[in-house]
Amino acid sequence: MTHKLPQLPYAQNALEPYISRETLDYHHGKHHAAYINKLNDAIKGTEYENKSLQEIITSATGPVLNNAAQAWNHAFYWQCLSPAGGKLKGDLMEAITRKFHSLERFEREFSTTANGHFGSGWTWLVLDKVGKLAIVSMHDADSPFRHGQIPLLTCDVWEHAYYIDYRNSRQSYVNAFWQIVNWEFVTEQFKQASHRQAA
Ligand code: MN
Repeated sequence: MTHKLPQLPYAQNALEPYISRETLDYHHGKHHAAYINKLNDAIKGTEYENKSLQEIITSATGPVLNNAAQAWNHAFYWQCLSPAGGKLKGDLMEAITRKFHSLERFEREFSTTANGHFGSGWTWLVLDKVGKLAIVSMHDADSPFRHGQIPLLTCDVWEHAYYIDYRNSRQSYVNAFWQIVNWEFVTEQFKQASHRQAA
């Protein structure tokens, strides 16, 4: 099985002015594509050749794991963004309010975690093993699937995600991130995860 670079769910310039066309051109067209190409090279002739990304992530190590996790994480990240993400509402709004007191405080805590993450990685909202919402920060190519968590929302905090638009200011990028979060997608992830955990 050959893994393919998924298309962006919007035009390359759709997230402007928050994320530029140039950033998406490099981030999706070069970085994400490179993870997929390296993964395809690394799994050739191995036990991982016919496994899904998620199966690889939970069982592999080394470069196979890293490239598979980066392939999955980026595909998820693109879906977490949208030029018209809508508003947070419904069950997820209630769950976030219960856990973090308000959407504003959730966003503040998530931003603090993302801004404070040392080096490359990903900041996530997940459902943890016991079905509770949690903000977690992961290094490099780590994945919630390695920790028994279900991902709901992610922010890529590798420098390549923001350096063209914001140079060294990760904080400016994280502020912009909230303007383009696809809450509809995140709400759907929460709904599916809740069903799975209840089953
Ligand atoms: Mn990235």
